[in-house]
Amino acid sequence: MNYKQRIVVIGAGFGGLSFCKKIDKSKFDVTIVDRNNYHSFPPLFYQVASGGLEPASISFPLRREFRGKKMKGCRFNYGGVRTIDTGAKTVITEYETIPYDILIIAAGTTNNFFGIPDLQQRVCTLKSTSQAIRTRNEVLLRLERAAIEQNPDRRRRLLTFAVIGGGPTGVEIAGALGEMKRYIIKREYPSISPEEVNVILVEGSDRLLRTMSEASSEDALRDLRKLMVEVRLNKTMKSYDAEGLITFTDGETITADTVIWTAGVTAERFDFKNFMPGACPGGRLPVDEYNRVEGTDDIYAIGDISYHADEVWQKGCPQLAQVAIQQGECVAANLNNPDKSRPFSYNDKGSMATIGRNHAVVDLNKVHYSGWFAWITWMAVHLISLLGMRNKAVVLLNWIWSYFTFSSSLRLILRQSINPSSPVKN
Ligand SMILES: Cc1cc2nc3c(=O)[nH]c(=O)nc-3n(C[C@H](O)[C@H](O)[C@H](O)COP(=O)(O)OP(=O)(O)OC[C@H]3O[C@@H](n4cnc5c(N)ncnc54)[C@H](O)[C@@H]3O)c2cc1C
Repeated sequence: MNYKQRIVVIGAGFGGLSFCKKIDKSKFDVTIVDRNNYHSFPPLFYQVASGGLEPASISFPLRREFRGKKMKGCRFNYGGVRTIDTGAKTVITEYETIPYDILIIAAGTTNNFFGIPDLQQRVCTLKSTSQAIRTRNEVLLRLERAAIEQNPDRRRRLLTFAVIGGGPTGVEIAGALGEMKRYIIKREYPSISPEEVNVILVEGSDRLLRTMSEASSEDALRDLRKLMVEVRLNKTMKSYDAEGLITFTDGETITADTVIWTAGVTAERFDFKNFMPGACPGGRLPVDEYNRVEGTDDIYAIGDISYHADEVWQKGCPQLAQVAIQQGECVAANLNNPDKSRPFSYNDKGSMATIGRNHAVVDLNKVHYSGWFAWITWMAVHLISLLGMRNKAVVLLNWIWSYFTFSSSLRLILRQSINPSSPVKN
């Protein structure tokens, strides 16, 4: 029997899954490792955090995905990769050591707190499903607490929600909180007046959605203001202390019990043995035109964790789902047919962001549009991109239901039980 080269893929996100779908399983023995047993859909994390969608509707069990035709022949191993030993050609998780002939690193990014002391322990984040659930719990908890709080200072602090970072995620979560303030508070929390709720969106540069067109930035600003979101531009956060005091670099301060941090990402880190990857912005791994990690010949990096620069994208391809998907497909095609290898080139299909119901901004090449039609485009694109027919149907039904009723059964505070403390022994 012919020896099949062993490919190990770290990460079952957009890049890892697109690679696994395209790689020829008759030629390669493929194992994908992920610290979660599901694929998640980050563009809709903000809807989980604001109680609009249940986590299960934007997550897809990997074992079910691997039963499908395109993935048949791939193996899924649960575990978080800590070490990559390029000498022994193994990846090491908390449970096992997996040998590889070819390694695909598709582990994405994590939050970047830019070294601000204790920030990680104090802010809510949106980089994973569990972080989105935690953010939802924290927001709902503040509302419940405020509803029975008599002290005006304490009440103001509980009802101030600061979102740091005016990129798409910051704009989308601020818009969702603005909608909550405008449409939900009065109905569900009669002892809170919507005017008492402060949603503040803070951005360090002079415009929102910096990676999109200026028209999109202006439209997003206008739509957020309509939702009573206070937008502060040219403001950089310096610290956030245990008393809820946010201090900006210009000396101004505000007090908020909830800070949602969307201001930056950095590549997932591994403990490399026998190899030291080059340094790139955001901790990303430098790759050549074929997405091979520089200095190696059997390790590839795709998606957010890779730094792929070319003539068009001189500062590296953007960290977007489409880039990850296209890189996964390109690397798989090159491994399937090495004689016909082609360098990666990103086909930019545009970008979009939504700002509450009926409002979104869309940039497609040189065309920009906003408003209701952009919102319909945004919903259609996100529904098509979601994995699984059931998820698509549930999300669509949820959107239609909450569009007409403004009501959601998902505003539950679900806390994790602390026991048993460690159900699985290593
Ligand atoms: C809140 C939010 C909103 C976004 N909105 C959009 C949008 O609207 N449009 C868009 O194009 N892009 C959006 N993005 C960016 C998009 O999600 C990423 O570009 C895309 O997910 C990158 O794909 P990837 O495969 O590189 O990484 P991911 O999709 O992040 O997948 C990485 C996978 O690796 C796993 N992993 C990580 N570390 C380890 C480890 N040590 N061991 C094992 N497994 C590991 C993770 O569990 C995960 O499954 C958004 C991102 C966020 C966070």
